[in-house]
Parts: sequence; C-alpha cells; structure tokens
Amino acid sequence: MSRCAIIGVLSLSCLSCSTQRDTPSTNLSLLGTTTVIDPGHGGKHYGGRGYGGLLEKNVNLSVALRLQSILESLGARVVMTRSMDQELSLDLDDDVVRRVEVVNSVRPDLLLSLHTNYCSSMVPRGFEVWVPKGGTSRGRASRELAECIRQELGSLWGSGDRGTKENSLRLLHDTTCPSVLVEMEFITNSAAEVQLSKRGTHALLAEHLAQAVVKWRNLRGSHSKTP
Ligand SMILES: [Zn+2]
Repeated sequence: MSRCAIIGVLSLSCLSCSTQRDTPSTNLSLLGTTTVIDPGHGGKHYGGRGYGGLLEKNVNLSVALRLQSILESLGARVVMTRSMDQELSLDLDDDVVRRVEVVNSVRPDLLLSLHTNYCSSMVPRGFEVWVPKGGTSRGRASRELAECIRQELGSLWGSGDRGTKENSLRLLHDTTCPSVLVEMEFITNSAAEVQLSKRGTHALLAEHLAQAVVKWRNLRGSHSKTP
C-alpha cells in the first residue's frame, strides 16, 4: 500500500470539515529513521472503556498498525511494542518496564505511545500530548514532536487542543529517545466514542500522526539522533 499511503498523507481530510489540504511536505522520506510505536494497553489490560463499550486497547492498536504501514511506506524502520491484542505482562508495572526495554534496546529516533483519554464525566473531550519532564535536549525534541502532533490533530478534529503536558510516567521518564504519549481523544465522550469506533477515523488519525512525524523529521533535518 506504499503509494496509497503516501497519497493519503498528501491529501489528509478533516473530520470537522470537508476540505482537503494540498500543502504537502517537500521531503517525505523517512529513510534511515527508526520509530517505535507503542499501542497502549492490550490483552487483559484494556485501558479506558467508553460508555458505549468501546475498548481503548483496540482503538490504540488499530491506529498503530495503520501508522506502521504508512511510516514503513515512507522508508522508516518501525518497531512495535505489540502488534496483537496482548499484554506484555500481566503485572501492570512490569508491563511498562517491558515496553521501556523494547524502546531502549532499539535506540529509535522517536517513541509514539498511542492512547485514548478517559474521565468519569462524559463531558470532556479533546486531545493532548504528554512529554517527559525536564529541559534536556531529549525533552526539547519531545516537545517539538508534540507540537507537530497537536497541529495535525487540530487539523483533523477541528478543535479540542488541550496542550502539551509534562508527565513523569515511567514510559516517558525511562526511555532515552524523544518520547511522546498521545491522548488522541476521550473515549468516555459519547460523540468522540462514536468517531473512535470507526475504522475511517483510525485511518485518518494514522495519516495525521504520520504527517506529524514527517514534519518533525524535516524540522530537525539530519540531526535525528538525540543523545
Ligand atoms: Zn491509555
């Protein structure tokens, strides 16, 4: 699907409007780069659950597999922390430790951890991106990546940007590459849950996330490896 994927990245559509964008990046190649995609949760750990019954783990994996295909079609090496509906460990803490081990063993250019948000209230919706705490070069690179992702998700959803947030989660703290955790929308908001249940939305999320990676890569030029 390489050609289709590239075309998809070049003509992203928006869920809140019917317009098509026609401002492709000038450099689409991700050759020589490595991305780890971490579809949050899996197996016995289902993550958030929408009030209509949608499970976060399934949304995360569906978007992640689509994103993997697009990035690979653009020349990137992609490593997944999981490619099926499975946990890495039954113990939640150990599950995260194993994800960190995958990331740090690969020494990628970036980590994208994909999640949907949840709340006991059905009211909140919107997207946000979590980054590691601190002002290191890795932290700055993570913030730049978060900015690119928020621009793209803003373009997709039309509104709902809740910002970039520092977080000391082990997955962000213990990894050694630029790392972001993307809360793509609230699975507990009924309107958002309906959208998150559609494969078409998963495809659009993947296309916009891929475009964000391309933008970030172009922004950083050839200095892709962050110590
Ligand atoms: Zn989650």
